[in-house]
Amino acid sequence: MVQQRYVEQIVTAHYQREGGGFMVRRPMPTRNLPLMDPFLLLDELGPVVYAPGEAIGAPDHPHRGFETVTYLLQGGIEHKDSAGHVGRLGAGDVQWMTAGSGIVHSEMPTQQFFQEGGAMHGFQLWVNLPAALKTLVPRYQEIPREKIPHGLSKDGLAHVVVIAGRALGVEGVIDTHTSVHYQDWTLKPGADVLTDVDSKHSVGVYVFSGQIKVGCDLQHINAGQFAVLREGLLVRLVVLPEERTEARLLLLAGLPVNEPVVRHGPFVMSTEEELQQAVLDYQSGRMGKIS
Ligand code: MN
Repeated sequence: MVQQRYVEQIVTAHYQREGGGFMVRRPMPTRNLPLMDPFLLLDELGPVVYAPGEAIGAPDHPHRGFETVTYLLQGGIEHKDSAGHVGRLGAGDVQWMTAGSGIVHSEMPTQQFFQEGGAMHGFQLWVNLPAALKTLVPRYQEIPREKIPHGLSKDGLAHVVVIAGRALGVEGVIDTHTSVHYQDWTLKPGADVLTDVDSKHSVGVYVFSGQIKVGCDLQHINAGQFAVLREGLLVRLVVLPEERTEARLLLLAGLPVNEPVVRHGPFVMSTEEELQQAVLDYQSGRMGKIS
C-alpha cells in the first residue's frame, strides 16, 4: 500500500500589514514555521473590498535570491520592474517572477481598479533558489487564467487549478527553475481525494475558506490554518458530507534546497556576507530602477 502523508504541524496564520499598508494573512514565516523549505513565505492578500480611490499596493522595492509568485483570485494588479517587464494581473492570473540576481519592482492596483474599487483577493508565495541559482538573470512569466490548466475528480466533487506541477493527471504550463507544485483546490461537501506528491518534497496545505480533514490521520484544518505533511506519496483531502460549504485550499510541494537561509526583508541569501552585499547593491542602485 502506498503511504499517505500525516500531519506533523498545524500553524494558524496571523494578520499583518505589508507593502503600502494592505493587510495580509500569513501562515509562514511565523515563529512556529519560519519556512517550509523551499517555501519562504505565503501571504493571503485580503479578501478585502476597496472603495473607489482606496486600493493599496506595494510601491518600488527590491528582491534578490528567490522567486515571487502572485496568484490573484479577484482584483487587478499592475507590475513594473527594473528589468523592463510590465504586466497586468486579473482574476485567475498568475505571475511567476524570478528575482535571481536582483530586481526592483512595483505591485500596484491597476488604474481602473484604483478608480472603481472592488474586491481584492490573492496570494503571494516566495520560493527559495539554491545558491547556484541566486545569480540568475531576472525572469518574468505571466500566465493568464485561460491558459492555466485545471482538473476535476471523477465524482465531480474536487476541482483543482494547476498553477505549477501536476494534479489529477493535469500538467501545469509554467516553467519553474526548481521542482515545485502549486495547486488551488475547491472541494465540495463529500469530496475525498488522494493526490500524489513526490516523497522527497516538502508538502503543505493552506486552507483559506471552509474546513477540511487532511492526511492519513484526518486532522481538522480550519480556514486560516496551514498544515505541514510528512512522509509519503499521497495526500488525502476530505470535506465531510455534512459540511454546508465547499472548502478552498492551496497545496504546496517542493524539493527542499537544504542550504542555509539568511534572510532580511526582501533579500534571501545563503550567507551574512551575501546578505550585506545585497543591501549594498540595492542602496547603491545596482539592482536598477523602474523606468
Ligand atoms: Mn515584491
